[in-house]
Amino acid sequence: MIKIENLTYAYPSSDEENKKFALDGLNIDINKGEFVAILGHNGSGKSTLGKLINAQIVPTSGDIYVDGINAKDHDKIWDVRKKCSMVFQNPDNQMVATTVEEEVAFGVENLKIPNPELRNRVDSALKQVGMIDYKKRSPATLSGGQKQRVSIAGVIAMLSDYIVFDEPTAMLDPQGRKDVIKLVEDLNKNYGKTIIYITHYMEEAIIADKIIVLDKGKKALEGSAKEVFSQVKRMKDLGLSVPQVTEVAYELRLRGVDFKHLPLNIEEFLQSI
Ligand code: ADP
Ligand code: MG
Repeated sequence: MIKIENLTYAYPSSDEENKKFALDGLNIDINKGEFVAILGHNGSGKSTLGKLINAQIVPTSGDIYVDGINAKDHDKIWDVRKKCSMVFQNPDNQMVATTVEEEVAFGVENLKIPNPELRNRVDSALKQVGMIDYKKRSPATLSGGQKQRVSIAGVIAMLSDYIVFDEPTAMLDPQGRKDVIKLVEDLNKNYGKTIIYITHYMEEAIIADKIIVLDKGKKALEGSAKEVFSQVKRMKDLGLSVPQVTEVAYELRLRGVDFKHLPLNIEEFLQSI
């Protein structure tokens, strides 16, 4: 599991007196196999949290334990990075190689995995994301959604138990979004991967076991999708929305329609109606 205790982070600043904390006293438990969605308006600290879990940056104070390993422990940084990999928003910034298969192999090569295991891992990851037929292609020729699937193949090949996704669908068209979400769900449900999914699409957070809402580097809300999205007013105060059907039901309720529970999807909405 990932245990985050009293975590603070301040980016290095020229004004040491007036340090601004990007994260400020966070406590979070993420269990193995869990799907956790992280929500919060711009600048609330989501990406900073992702980078800390991925051990790209080190806590200013407090601790992150990944399966008991302290991410602050300098000698263990590669162990943490191997266990927790990260997929970013812009697939173009992640592409470094000239072919799809080299791209997927890149992260694994850093782990010094010998051939033929490397080759097997790359092929099997590309099959899993439905991109094996593209393995000799240049990443530059792919659509955004395909590139993102190749990035995901890269983290699959690393065999990481924990995967942080930082708004992976933000730059994709609707089909690309659908493909990536399906893949993330599959990694969680069928491959037992623990998912930390940062998003600003409320609809994408519905499938999470747990939602954590950040505000100014602090945890503002934590609970199931039902618990979090039923607090429509609070979510709006935090600069966020709720799924569209939830909002419609909320507005109808304000106008006297008796919804016992606020629905999260169309099926629940229709049932209530
Ligand atoms: P989010 O991903 O939720 O939009 P971030 O984690 O990117 O939020 O940012 C949290 C806070 O840290 C913001 O106030 C942001 O301006 C600041 N910040 C982010 N990255 C840097 C950086 N590289 N240097 C200095 N401040 C940063
Ligand atoms: Mg961000």
